[in-house]
Amino acid sequence: MSPTTPAALLRASRLPPLEARILLTHALGWRRTELITRSDDALDPAAVARYQALEARRVAGEPVAQLVGTREFFGLDFDVTPDVLIPRPETELLVETALVAMEGISRPRVLDLGAGTGAIAIAIASTRPDARVWALDRSAEALVVATRNATRLLDAQRPGGALVLTQSNWYEALDATLRFDVIVSNPPYIASGDPHLSEGDLRFEPRGALTDEADGLSAIRAIVAGAPTRLSAKGVLWIEHGYDQAEAVRALLSAQGFAEVRSEQDLAGIERISGGRLPG
Ligand code: GLN
Repeated sequence: MSPTTPAALLRASRLPPLEARILLTHALGWRRTELITRSDDALDPAAVARYQALEARRVAGEPVAQLVGTREFFGLDFDVTPDVLIPRPETELLVETALVAMEGISRPRVLDLGAGTGAIAIAIASTRPDARVWALDRSAEALVVATRNATRLLDAQRPGGALVLTQSNWYEALDATLRFDVIVSNPPYIASGDPHLSEGDLRFEPRGALTDEADGLSAIRAIVAGAPTRLSAKGVLWIEHGYDQAEAVRALLSAQGFAEVRSEQDLAGIERISGGRLPG
């Protein structure tokens, strides 16, 4: 039998080509370009077995980000485990919108509720080195992952920690005297009966990061209700939500006294985040 090569493995793969290349690069410990320059190398059988094991797990449904242990978000590589939501590209809109809201504020104070990997908080802290960022999650397991990401992605840049990571169910553990210029959150917003929870990558992500086990809006209600007492005058709140929740979230923000209430569309043209500003 002729030796197994990267080219042969990719030809025989049952996966979409991009996924097969990501898993093969990971199994071999190569850079992406090496799959091209070394496509006819004879591979060590142990490396082939590693790739085939990953491929089988992917075919069985495990998310690529969990199989390779990382996902890129806002130009940074985040560690990912089954304990955290996998960062999604559409959530970059929340980061970009928060960064715009922080323009003109020196040393802004930012709060991220439901930090997961820490992707939102770390992306903001990394882009605005003068910001003080608090990131909360009720999951101790998620905080372990977020701490690892913060250490690797921020500490070299900002020794001493520009990020405060705390275990908390929404605002509960937060010092009541703290006030923030910006609050952001990507909370669990999928309704408990939504069939998407039993499809695709979502089957392998922490259920508590995806659904509120209710109508999909209960976490958002708690976040909106608690925001006015934690925001500075003219502070802003931005929340990510489901494709059909924008109107409901805008109504919650208006009812809570927020002004300038509006939604922003993601790259797919879906109203994906909504926010508002406290009156001065
Ligand atoms: N955006 C995720 C999805 O629909 C859900 C994340 C969340 O509930 N915050 O796949």
